[in-house]
Amino acid sequence: MNVDYFSLPLSSPLATADGDITDRTGYLVTVDDPAPGIGEATPLPGWTESLESCEAALRDADPNDLDALPPAARHGVALALLDAEARHEGVPLYQHLGTGRTVETVPVNATVGDADDETTARRVERAAEAGFPAVKLKVGARSLDADLSRIAAARDAAPDVELRADANGAWSVPEAERAFDGLAAHGVSYVEQPLDSADLEGHAALRGRGVDVALDEALCEHGLDAVLTAGAADVLVLKPMVLGGPDIAVETAVLARGAGIDPVVTTTIDGAFARAAAVHVAAAVPDVRPCGLATGDRIRTDFIDDPAPVRNGFADVPQKEGNTAATSPADYA
Ligand SMILES: [Mg+2]
Repeated sequence: MNVDYFSLPLSSPLATADGDITDRTGYLVTVDDPAPGIGEATPLPGWTESLESCEAALRDADPNDLDALPPAARHGVALALLDAEARHEGVPLYQHLGTGRTVETVPVNATVGDADDETTARRVERAAEAGFPAVKLKVGARSLDADLSRIAAARDAAPDVELRADANGAWSVPEAERAFDGLAAHGVSYVEQPLDSADLEGHAALRGRGVDVALDEALCEHGLDAVLTAGAADVLVLKPMVLGGPDIAVETAVLARGAGIDPVVTTTIDGAFARAAAVHVAAAVPDVRPCGLATGDRIRTDFIDDPAPVRNGFADVPQKEGNTAATSPADYA
């Protein structure tokens, strides 16, 4: 097993728990048994272990004891091994992870972020015209009234698109209750992380108000069992890098479905190998709803050409054996 440091420049800065970052840094893990395999460990401050902890874990990693590794390091090693196994079997990664059926594309959402009413409406309209079945807006940075006005403008701009919002824990319980009543009137399907991630009971109490509750940060913080026990979610946002690997992400999706919760797969703004793996995870979930996988444009200079390009609101699922067509570091040097 080889471990190599990388740094990929972002096309625009990314806000993290450690402030804005301009590069995504991490480690590529390569294996050559039973076939060539490439994994990507791209830690993200606030969500996974630090870059330093990731490196230390990878240096001492035992491929036979994956669960001893912190999440990004485990993702890197697990993906390298899964890529090798799938290539050895002669099947694309999503078939190795799930069933043998063929899945050509997975639906994705557009992200329009935070902006004034007019800009929001224009972005939402453009996304709907481009074929995106769902659009995600950031909320919670402005006053609740300003956000409700933005959502109304978005709905007017695209009457048929699925609207989602992500509050990243910004609202108090009374704010969230008022927000949900307003968002329900505009047919918003779900809000990610309306309340602080610590408050599982608060999220459980918010359910059933006409807008679904999706947990993202809270899943990272508490884990699936605690979320299920609390009955805190209608939707779960699954980030393979944060969960510890594509295999764990698929397992979590299956368990969530079994509990009546819809999984949505998203990247952590990663390089091409981790993004492709996240697309394979989504493809392994039958009838997955639109996922947060249209993030390739956030990386300015990538390892390889986008292996899962987005067209008309759908990401192409790579069909070559393994994760991507690349089989060795020489392929992306
Ligand atoms: Mg989120």
